[in-house]
Amino acid sequence: MCKTKKLLGRDGVKLFLKAAAGENAPAMAHKLLSPISDEALAEKCSLRAADTRMMLNKLHNMGIIDYNRSKDKDSGWYYYAWFLRADKLLETYVTKKRNDLEDIERRLENNEVYNLYLCGSCEQTFDFDRAAELLYHCPLCEGIMDRGSSDEDFDKMKKIAINIKKEISDVQKEFKAVSAMRYKTMKVI
Ligand SMILES: [Zn+2]
Repeated sequence: MCKTKKLLGRDGVKLFLKAAAGENAPAMAHKLLSPISDEALAEKCSLRAADTRMMLNKLHNMGIIDYNRSKDKDSGWYYYAWFLRADKLLETYVTKKRNDLEDIERRLENNEVYNLYLCGSCEQTFDFDRAAELLYHCPLCEGIMDRGSSDEDFDKMKKIAINIKKEISDVQKEFKAVSAMRYKTMKVI
């Protein structure tokens, strides 16, 4: 449990969760360490029920949360209790980092760095279309994006690639226990 909290506290993981399900997702993930209903979760996070469900759906589609389902014998109603799958979070996070790295390495090889926009404060990269769509504001930290346009930017991209490589190897080393975690799910039909 302690390792999971540590994983959730990593800057990279927080940004990843924000990008996946919105501003409140990192805080929500902490409340999902043990199974909880969507109503209780909404209350704990001070969010509207509809927003909470939308976020839960996004996280569930990514496979990083799961649920237990039980049935009330008298009313026939189903009850859902959601919980974080830390093993899947780690796996999905590492996959995302690997894809980012591949993308950056390909662009560096092809000298395509000039088509990339990057956020200097949180080191996220965006291609031209996505950057234009976001009006050159980083959706994660609200920073202004820069266009890669000089040798300095080329070096910056190389540095980002090195940082991503380090992050992948660090999390894999430190969170081996998390990737080995097993979860029991109960779903009454
Ligand atoms: Zn940013």
